[in-house]
Amino acid sequence: MRYCPDDAASLVREPYWWSARDRGGDDFPPAQSFDVVVVGSGYTGLNAALALAGAGTSVLVVEAGDLGEGGSTRNGGMVSGTLKVSHPDLEKTFGKERADAIFFEAQNSVLFLEELIARHAIDCDYQRSGMYFAAYAPSHYDALAREAGQLDKLGVETRMVPKHRQHMELGSDIYHGGRITTLAGGLHPARYHAGLVAACRRAGVCFATRCRVQALERQGSGYVLKTEKGLVTAERVIVATNAYTGAELQWFRRRVIPIGSYIVATEELDPGFLADLIPGRRMIQDTKRNLYYYRLSPDGKRMIFGGRTSFRRISETESARRLHASMTDVFPALSEARLTHSWTGNVAFTFDSLPHLGSHDGVHYALGCCGQGVALMSHFGNCIARDMLGSGDRSAFALNPIPTVPGYSGNPWFIPVVGEYYRFRDWLERPARSPAA
Ligand SMILES: Cc1cc2nc3c(=O)[nH]c(=O)nc-3n(C[C@H](O)[C@H](O)[C@H](O)COP(=O)(O)OP(=O)(O)OC[C@H]3O[C@@H](n4cnc5c(N)ncnc54)[C@H](O)[C@@H]3O)c2cc1C
Repeated sequence: MRYCPDDAASLVREPYWWSARDRGGDDFPPAQSFDVVVVGSGYTGLNAALALAGAGTSVLVVEAGDLGEGGSTRNGGMVSGTLKVSHPDLEKTFGKERADAIFFEAQNSVLFLEELIARHAIDCDYQRSGMYFAAYAPSHYDALAREAGQLDKLGVETRMVPKHRQHMELGSDIYHGGRITTLAGGLHPARYHAGLVAACRRAGVCFATRCRVQALERQGSGYVLKTEKGLVTAERVIVATNAYTGAELQWFRRRVIPIGSYIVATEELDPGFLADLIPGRRMIQDTKRNLYYYRLSPDGKRMIFGGRTSFRRISETESARRLHASMTDVFPALSEARLTHSWTGNVAFTFDSLPHLGSHDGVHYALGCCGQGVALMSHFGNCIARDMLGSGDRSAFALNPIPTVPGYSGNPWFIPVVGEYYRFRDWLERPARSPAA
């Protein structure tokens, strides 16, 4: 049975995670003044706010929607320090020393996250389960193996899994083996976010929700922010709006390419049956350009399945239909599974495929997670705070400015064209027994 129209009627068109979300609801009186105002209440903003407030700074987090409205409560909850740019490519661009610094800072962001969760006793189902990169084509397996050799030299633990042993990792026959990365894991994104909100509240952070910042201007040595609920002044400002950066922050918006990603959750299924599909409960990504990413829910009762199923905005009903077909291609045994939740969110890409942090006109920012932001953007929020507090240590990601291209205003009109090209390339490389992407 394929996804059927009856399912659409009962489909919840918001993240499966949201039942555990802390939406906030606090408010602040207009005309207040703070040491620091943070724009955006995702992992970046909250980590910056937490570290600043912990050091005695007065902080207001201003959020356009409910708390965590953006990517931070919509994501797949996969924790890794993997970048879109490989170490050899980093080395070609930046030289060995800088490449090493960028690479290891990304890897270590996982350790930062683990330590943060432990320090604040955040109950978010975190498990260092590892990640499995599933090879879509035999040539992709060879590329994963070559990269494993490079990673080994850098001291990163990986393990190749040939196709004939793949069922120990994945109950699917469409892939050609894969590679395990051990420094990776999974968490419940909204529970991690709610834990951060709670830690921020304990540290004295103020929140303003449903309060879009409409304009940001310099005033003397500080800033004035015009918000939907009135003016607020700050000595310093952090922009933590990532893929949700709007025209009111145009300099930043011109440097981020927002791309929609779609996810579904199945109904509750027999955990034993699901354990046969992902025995090690690892996080799974495949190696297609338009990749699928999937995992079990933290309670082991649902399949959570995501992908860039369309490069034009489509409804949650349509994305559910498409993702059900994709999920069934990977796991034919799930063809009868009904979907209960379907949602979407924006991922922030950049013109050099690297995340960045820095400052513009004195305003600090961290933007462009390129789809890997649970650990990295958390770490970046903390980096910004430490920089503001005068720690003296600078992130390797802060050493060159975030690029844009002439004529780009923040509307990524070219994405459907690039996306279709990638889809075509995936189709060309499709293995004999595998479906088209
Ligand atoms: C569908 C999806 C799946 C993903 N899966 C993974 C994954 O498995 N693993 C991983 O590592 N990463 C994943 N990511 C990426 C990850 O979610 C992000 O990198 C991370 O959440 C970014 O956090 P952030 O705080 O920078 O931004 P966000 O969490 O997006 O927060 C930005 C906030 O700014 C607010 N905002 C914008 N403009 C204004 C304004 N003018 N005034 C006030 N507020 C404003 C927005 O409302 C939003 O809440 C995924 C992302 C998506 C969308």
